[in-house]
Amino acid sequence: MIALFFGAPGVGKGTQASLISQREGIPYLSTGEALRNAIAKQTEVGKLAQTYVESGGLVPDDVVTRIVDETLKQPEFAKGAILDGYPRTTAQAEALTEILRGYGKAVSVVVNITVDTETIVKRLLLRGRKDDKEEIIRHRFGVYAKETAPLLDYYTNAGAAIKTIDGDAEVEVVYERVYTSLNA
Ligand code: AMP
Repeated sequence: MIALFFGAPGVGKGTQASLISQREGIPYLSTGEALRNAIAKQTEVGKLAQTYVESGGLVPDDVVTRIVDETLKQPEFAKGAILDGYPRTTAQAEALTEILRGYGKAVSVVVNITVDTETIVKRLLLRGRKDDKEEIIRHRFGVYAKETAPLLDYYTNAGAAIKTIDGDAEVEVVYERVYTSLNA
C-alpha cells in the first residue's frame, strides 16, 4: 500500500500517519520531519531548506523529491509506504508518479484529514513549533489551499481512493476513522 496523508497544517496528519505506520508496520516518511532534522544538523539540504521552512514557504521541488527518492530506495519500503507532507505541488505529484512507476507501483489511497481553520490555528499556537506563529500559520494555509489542495483532483483522476476524514476529535477517535477507512 502506498498511502498519502493530506490535510492543511495542523489537522493532525503527522500524528495519524505515524500511528498507522507504527501499528500497521508500514514504513513512514515525513518530508517536514526530514527537513527539520536536516536543519538541526545543518547539512547542505538543511542550510538550503531553512529559510523556506521557517517562513512557511515550500522548499524547492527537486530538494524534497530527492529526499523521497532516496528514502523509497531503502529495502523496507518494498512493503509499502506512508507519505506525510509529500507531494505538495503538481510537479512533486508527477515526480512521485515517475518514482513509483520505476517500482511498478502507484499511490493507492489518499487520506485527506479536514478540520475547521480557526480550530487548527488554536491547536497550532498550542503546539508552538518554530513555524507555528499566527502569521506564518496563515501563510502555510494559503500555500496549502493554492498548491496542495488541487492535488486531490490529480489523485482522483489517477484512480486513487480518496478518504476524507473529519479530524476534529480526540487522537484515538480520529485514528479509528482513519484505520476503518483504510480497511474498507
Ligand atoms: P510539515 O511538517 O509537513 O508541516 O512541513 C513543514 C515545512 O517543511 C513546510 O511548511 C515546508 O516549508 C517544508 N516542507 C515539508 N514537506 C514539503 C514538501 N513536500 N515540499 C516543499 N516543502 C515542504
